[in-house]
Amino acid sequence: MGKTIVITGANRGIGLAMVQQWCTSGDTVFAACRQPSQALLDSGAKVIDGVDVGTPDGVMNLKSALGNTPVDVLYNNAGIMCSETVDAMDFEQIREQFETNTLGPLRVTMALLENLHEGSKVGLMTSRMGSIADNTSGAKYGYRISKAGLNAAGKSLAVDLHGRGIAVAILHPGWVQTDMTGQSGNLTVDEAASNLIARMDALTLENSGTFWHSDGSALPW
Ligand code: NAP
Repeated sequence: MGKTIVITGANRGIGLAMVQQWCTSGDTVFAACRQPSQALLDSGAKVIDGVDVGTPDGVMNLKSALGNTPVDVLYNNAGIMCSETVDAMDFEQIREQFETNTLGPLRVTMALLENLHEGSKVGLMTSRMGSIADNTSGAKYGYRISKAGLNAAGKSLAVDLHGRGIAVAILHPGWVQTDMTGQSGNLTVDEAASNLIARMDALTLENSGTFWHSDGSALPW
């Protein structure tokens, strides 16, 4: 039987490609976005708009649309990346990335906690740029802080939800050709989506709380 999946940031980029692949597999996909794209409307997903993960009201729109629908997979994909350097610091921009990339996924997961059940899985789209051990190029203060914070939240969620039978994956998609990277990168959205879905399929309570590259290798914190 197909799974019931909820994903945020579903209107473009990697999120849209994941929606398209899950729909093709016969899963029921609730695709949350701020504004739908034509490609999302054409995907066969059940589209829920007005879902800004950076605001409590936006997340409430998602919860209201879902009601008590049981959710097998919650994939927190929505995210933003800005740029700061020591010579051009922008605290407001850092705060916005923290709201979207760190508090957003946590807010969504908390709002849908009652929809999750024993055997459910939660995916958190982080980035290798949130790895402190892997940081050799500096800068990108807000993005790095926000994804490192998400990694910390993901680990706590994995520990806290283990007893409820809910597993959590902390996933770096790879370097992917999307608007976020200016279409640079060495993976297409379809390749990244397929790898990420494979990671979600392989997620268990035993390996819950791991920080993975979508190619399956574990990444350093
Ligand atoms: P993208 O093409 O820029 O897409 C970002 C998605 O997030 C869009 O759907 C966007 O919706 C949504 N979003 C942004 N802020 C939001 C908010 N406040 N509320 C709801 N939705 C919001 O980027 P992408 O590359 O697909 O990124 C997807 C995820 O992968 C992000 O979490 C990103 O950090 C992560 N990631 C990407 C790469 C890469 O190489 N591309 C690498 C590491 C991690 P709108 O259209 O409404 O803006």
